[in-house]
Amino acid sequence: MAKVLVIGAGGVGSVAVHKMAMNSDIFTGIALASRTKSKCDAIAASVKARTGVSIDTFQIDADDVAATTALIQQVKPVLVVNLALPYQDLHIMDACLAAGVNYMDTANYEPIDEAKFEYSWQWAYQDRFKQAGLMALLGSGFDPGVTSVFATWLKKHKLDTIRTLDILDCNGGDHGQHFATNFNPEINIREVTAPARHWNKGEWIETPALTIRHQFDFEAVGPKNMYLMYHEELESLAHHIPEIERIRFWMTFGDAYITHLTVLQNVGMTRIDPVIYNGQEIIPLQFLKAVLPEPASLGPTTKGKTNIGDIATGLKDGQEKTFYIYNICDHEDAYRETGNQAVSYTTGVPAMIGAAMMVQGLWKGEGVFNMEQFDPDPYMDMLNKHGLPWQVKELAGPLEF
Ligand code: NDP
Repeated sequence: MAKVLVIGAGGVGSVAVHKMAMNSDIFTGIALASRTKSKCDAIAASVKARTGVSIDTFQIDADDVAATTALIQQVKPVLVVNLALPYQDLHIMDACLAAGVNYMDTANYEPIDEAKFEYSWQWAYQDRFKQAGLMALLGSGFDPGVTSVFATWLKKHKLDTIRTLDILDCNGGDHGQHFATNFNPEINIREVTAPARHWNKGEWIETPALTIRHQFDFEAVGPKNMYLMYHEELESLAHHIPEIERIRFWMTFGDAYITHLTVLQNVGMTRIDPVIYNGQEIIPLQFLKAVLPEPASLGPTTKGKTNIGDIATGLKDGQEKTFYIYNICDHEDAYRETGNQAVSYTTGVPAMIGAAMMVQGLWKGEGVFNMEQFDPDPYMDMLNKHGLPWQVKELAGPLEF
């Protein structure tokens, strides 16, 4: 019997819960809690209609540690899957420790008043989880998540050591809106407007946001401009695979997205410090989120594909080799299956798989773990079976830029 409690009823929570219900031999009980209970109920109705599985729903403010602890004690799951926002990570980890239950998420903690992306806060929970005999798995989405498992799989099966790693995240989807983000707009814009950083020979190299750009021809999508960015898995990969000399993360953006974002930034709408409006404090970015389309609403109109993967170069039997491993996901297929577009799908499926690794004991440990610390094989098998098949091919050499 493995009962799980999922917190967060956005696009990612919706996909994860649908996929858990489709695997009811692994997830024998599913509860979904979020700030707005009506969103949980709508997901429960869709899950029931699509799979016949009933799930329990609850209202919770996950920033209230006592209330979250009480909910965990009431539901009695073996695992809490945090698919709310990164701001809730530490509060939900605290509640898991108080209730004696394992923890998993898809995004590293961020303080709400500072766009700072690092694992230090969550890694600081290592001793507490270890002493409690509990496991916390960090970052089981696509990136972070699958991209780290891809790197570990290449190291296990194709390369003896990795010298350079490039993570390429391409969304070739078109949602028909002038400007919208494919996951939570506040989190997305904080990430995209942060300075770019990459790891090179033992140090972080920082460059201004969205200034380093190259074109890459993505299979099933075509040529796209991709921009150097910081992304949290760079930190954990540099830590856990210390031989890697250079790790970079690239994400594609269309010209219209960049133009809108530049204007919004120039006029101050992406600020995360409070401003006084009509005698009331508001955060411009939170206000902007309120007027932008909800990512979950983009499902019916989004067409096209995502293509996310890793290019790794390293030694195999003394010879340098380069491999490219990637998944292509179709927005319309994802929508047909779960009622959500591919960005939610490519995050929610790995969230289900990470939870499956934990509740089946295929990945186990005491303390706080990142994805690359475990055997990639059972995870990679589930990707193939549950909607995110991957391919690997050998390239002539690493990226030439
Ligand atoms: P959404 O904004 O669509 O959903 C977030 C959900 O969390 C909403 O239902 C929201 O409630 C709920 N929530 C927010 N605050 C609280 C709170 N205090 N207590 C309880 N519930 C709360 O986001 P997404 O579904 O797009 O993303 C979910 C997570 O997945 C994010 O952390 C995001 O960073 C991460 N992610 C990870 C990716 C990866 O590849 N690793 C890729 C994409 C996303 P309400 O509806 O009331 O606002």
